[in-house]
Amino acid sequence: MKAAVFKAPGQPLVIEERPEPEPETGEVLIRVRRTGICGSDLHMTSGHGQQLALDSVIGHEFCGEVVALGPGVQRLQLGDRVAPLPYIGCGECLACRVGRPIGCPHLKPVVAGFCEYSRVGERDCVLLPPEVTDAAGALIEPLATGLQGVRKARLEVGARVLVTGAGAIGLAAAFWAGRLGAGKVAVMASSTRRQPIAAAMGASGFIAQGDEPDVSAAIQDVLGGAPDVVFEAVGLPGAIAQAIDYVKPQGTLVSLGFCDGADSIFPVLASWKEVELKFSLCYYRQDFQYTADVLAAGDDRPLAMITDTISLEQLPEKFESLRGSTADCKVLVAP
Ligand SMILES: [Zn+2]
Ligand SMILES: [Zn+2]
Repeated sequence: MKAAVFKAPGQPLVIEERPEPEPETGEVLIRVRRTGICGSDLHMTSGHGQQLALDSVIGHEFCGEVVALGPGVQRLQLGDRVAPLPYIGCGECLACRVGRPIGCPHLKPVVAGFCEYSRVGERDCVLLPPEVTDAAGALIEPLATGLQGVRKARLEVGARVLVTGAGAIGLAAAFWAGRLGAGKVAVMASSTRRQPIAAAMGASGFIAQGDEPDVSAAIQDVLGGAPDVVFEAVGLPGAIAQAIDYVKPQGTLVSLGFCDGADSIFPVLASWKEVELKFSLCYYRQDFQYTADVLAAGDDRPLAMITDTISLEQLPEKFESLRGSTADCKVLVAP
């Protein structure tokens, strides 16, 4: 099969012929239908921060059709379309049992979507009904990441919500906040480029940070007051300190930005406000299922994030063009 392989930091991925994976016990083989390119894919291949093993195949936002069953598979059948969680847990430990296999001590990180076929765990596949297109199926992973962040915020009905950062995770948080009871949702980014997408996903307001002399005043203007909850989805040093500045006293701040550089805050500023500060990384299997259910019920607004769909052969060049560019939002690969 063809796969896009990571050869060296800062170098384009290389399309190579690889052996087709064989599903082990409790696994199925899928023919990958769509895989989203994530900012973390760009970051982990850049040579900065978290190092990726050479000759790796990545791509964790994907869906596909089941084409072979490993031993012991009972629930899935050939021809099913599924969105898998992008790793395989043991199925026995507490983390696996509660639906959060990323916490499994025996995690198998074998799952990859920038290739034609992939082994995935049956237990952590969500079945896609016909109403959920392949494109929507590839959005389940980033949407579920945003959903888990919004769940951690325990939003009250009518809450004023600010999302800083208009990447896929920030937009997903805005989408879920609106669906799950927020009164007003404002997205803030450096420019107005993502404003139409944010609006399509349900944000009621948008703030272009670069255009505002007094950002806090602009936020309060758009939301009708200081935000009850801020979702930080920028991921750069300083973003958490800014969010502490924006949130109302005794408000909640959920960091989704995943900044891997040193950052500093003035704790006293958060203390005076008694800010509740949380970090969120990963979803539960139940978040995947809920996201699939919402898409199946006809809420296709998240599809507004998709700005391009390319072939596997086009991936290496497109991948490099996305570094340092925000012209595209979510690019999908159809291997
Ligand atoms: Zn991702
Ligand atoms: Zn486990």
